[in-house]
Amino acid sequence: MNCRVGPTVVVNLRRWQLGSPEFEGPPDEYQAPIINHEVGHWLGYGHRTCPGTGRPAPVMMQQIKGLHGCVSNAWPYGEDGTFHDGPRGGRDGGSRRARTATAGGYQYAPDTR
Ligand SMILES: [Zn+2]
Repeated sequence: MNCRVGPTVVVNLRRWQLGSPEFEGPPDEYQAPIINHEVGHWLGYGHRTCPGTGRPAPVMMQQIKGLHGCVSNAWPYGEDGTFHDGPRGGRDGGSRRARTATAGGYQYAPDTR
């Protein structure tokens, strides 16, 4: 399990080195989406869902739980600078409303996307 605890992003060492049983690609292809996803939480983003069949999966989508028609994607932005976003949802999609939280002296930006 990977998570964010206050200002600290925590990555499971075993998964980091070996990948995840739910992820078919090699470990190094698992590392970028994990860091981007967890840092996304650190920045205040909640989970997103697939925006449409064939579209790149948002980094904040829990891709490990299924792509739901999306294409696997590790990066928040496309090559043309487009932000890969999607409808809010998922277990901690609790960022349905904008919120401001403080933890460990860090101020999180409201999640307005
Ligand atoms: Zn998450």
